[in-house]
Amino acid sequence: MILSVLGWWLTAGSAIANVGGRNVFNQREHIIKTTKVGEIIYVSLADIQILINAGLEWNPFSGTAKVDTGDRIIKVSMYSPYVMVDNDAYNMVYSAAFQDGELYMPLESFLELSNKVLRGELVYDYGQERIDYVPRFHNILGLSSEERTNASLITVSLSEAMQYEYNVTDEGWLNLIIDGGRVDTNLVKQWGIAKAVQAIRAYQFENSAQLSFRLKEKNASIKVSDSKNPARIIISISAETDESEFSGNPSWRKNEIELIVIDPGHGGQDSGAVGRKYGTKEKDVVLEISKMVAKFLENKGLKVMMTRNEDVFIPLGGRTQLANRLGADLFVSIHANASPKRKPRGSQTFFLSQAKNDEARAAAALENSSLKFEMENEALAAKMGDLDYILMDLVQNEYLKESSELAEMIQKEADGKLKIPNRGIDQAGFYVLNKAYMPAVLVETAFISNEVEEGLLKKESFQKKVAENIANGILEFKRKYQLTKK
Ligand SMILES: [Zn+2]
Repeated sequence: MILSVLGWWLTAGSAIANVGGRNVFNQREHIIKTTKVGEIIYVSLADIQILINAGLEWNPFSGTAKVDTGDRIIKVSMYSPYVMVDNDAYNMVYSAAFQDGELYMPLESFLELSNKVLRGELVYDYGQERIDYVPRFHNILGLSSEERTNASLITVSLSEAMQYEYNVTDEGWLNLIIDGGRVDTNLVKQWGIAKAVQAIRAYQFENSAQLSFRLKEKNASIKVSDSKNPARIIISISAETDESEFSGNPSWRKNEIELIVIDPGHGGQDSGAVGRKYGTKEKDVVLEISKMVAKFLENKGLKVMMTRNEDVFIPLGGRTQLANRLGADLFVSIHANASPKRKPRGSQTFFLSQAKNDEARAAAALENSSLKFEMENEALAAKMGDLDYILMDLVQNEYLKESSELAEMIQKEADGKLKIPNRGIDQAGFYVLNKAYMPAVLVETAFISNEVEEGLLKKESFQKKVAENIANGILEFKRKYQLTKK
């Protein structure tokens, strides 16, 4: 996008200053209306939308606005700090304000968010009180993939021919290093993933860009070629054809289980379930347990990433997105169960599939209610939490066998070692497990709604035992799985 205007001045600083060195095509000034709530500067969404050349739809009845940038849909609601960008929820520091029939966004938080998702960059000049929309210059334009009978073809589109080299690491990463390449690392997650690839990462270095593809088959045969007109690099990955005994499903086959993502449920304004007797918050106990699981696993030489290390809110979708981006091998979400009744007790591990009984359905509905913290309104959250929605696009179907086996192994470890009932494994529509491109389970460690178990969950000794069991279940899965790979 080319700047076609002279300047975008905040009303507060609408006295004209000079515009140095910019491409000026049209000598016009633009005023961005601002308002202040306390000390916080807010900017008019309608004005920002014109600046970034997007379309705006305002619904006065619901108090929501939709900004369509052409490649992104940004939804904001008045008095809400949440902004939906496509299907991801972002949390601003302050809520959107409403004044004189217009939505105003908190300047700093909104610019920060916008710069994560827009193609160009909104640059705010504090001194001059002006905002410019500056195009980002990228010469790696995008990536597409195509499936052939015995190979995946990945095409990297470039704006000009560039020198490149590639290598394959022992861990099964194919690294493509493009000399002088400029890549929008934000865009990578929108790129389609070829069947032969498990995860894609992009890195911008000073003089080069690197695209890394985690191969499903370490021993896949790789061919790389290029063309000048149009400029592109084409990678062909042909998978080996040996069948895995462990999995009936050939699309997830790895030799090693190395990187585990541990996901402590809830966080921030989302406390999860709260105990009746002591007011214990699920978000706090599961964080403690998760940290212990991570420590156990790291001591056994595994790599562990946590979706959160502190008391912060993370949207459900962001949790698996992180795991996918990292190319994690397993995803384990840790929670405490709750029931409107006082009696129910015990530990249980779930994997994602259609619920077969009301108890499992209730557990999923409870965990999915976290969505209300990231949606513009509760009605929509309820709709999103609906089982049908979740099952509509069920990536986890591919990992059903491994996920149920992992659940089984974790639950087996808990059996007898904890002095609480073993409720076994079950399946239901847990939103947080959806879209994980790896085996994924959700552990309900105990019932925080039961007085006895709430008391236990607070105890460090119990937390430690629970953590040890989960870690041992993961290690057992790794051992068995790798055995069948040899
Ligand atoms: Zn939970």
